[in-house]
Amino acid sequence: MIQKIDHIGIAVRSLAASKPYYEKALGLSSDGEEEVASQKVKTAFFSCGEVHLELLEPTAPDSPIAIFIEKNGEGIHHIAFRTNDIEGQLSQAKDAAVRLVHEVPIEGAGDKLVAFLHPKSTYGVLTEFCTPK
Ligand code: ZN
Repeated sequence: MIQKIDHIGIAVRSLAASKPYYEKALGLSSDGEEEVASQKVKTAFFSCGEVHLELLEPTAPDSPIAIFIEKNGEGIHHIAFRTNDIEGQLSQAKDAAVRLVHEVPIEGAGDKLVAFLHPKSTYGVLTEFCTPK
């Protein structure tokens, strides 16, 4: 079952360049940075009440985030829903004819398991399911 919106992923060229906006202009505080090798990104999380913002900086030219920025520029990349049953959520989506990016969950940032639904079958919104490990 989906429990809440966990975070909003935002693609940026540089964490160093973009973090001051969130810290100084918005007054949010960073929960630290982490590299996610499987996704070829460096992330920084900001708490905003119950929801987090996840800044994503590509670490390689073939990173999904590098490709996204190339195509769309910087900006909102995905919405992540927290679930207590990621496998069940994936099979529910699959049963509803949604195309899955990940058939099985992969390692995500913040010690979570994550899986994505393809934006071509979610009306343009790259959708992530995440669950704490
Ligand atoms: Zn995410």
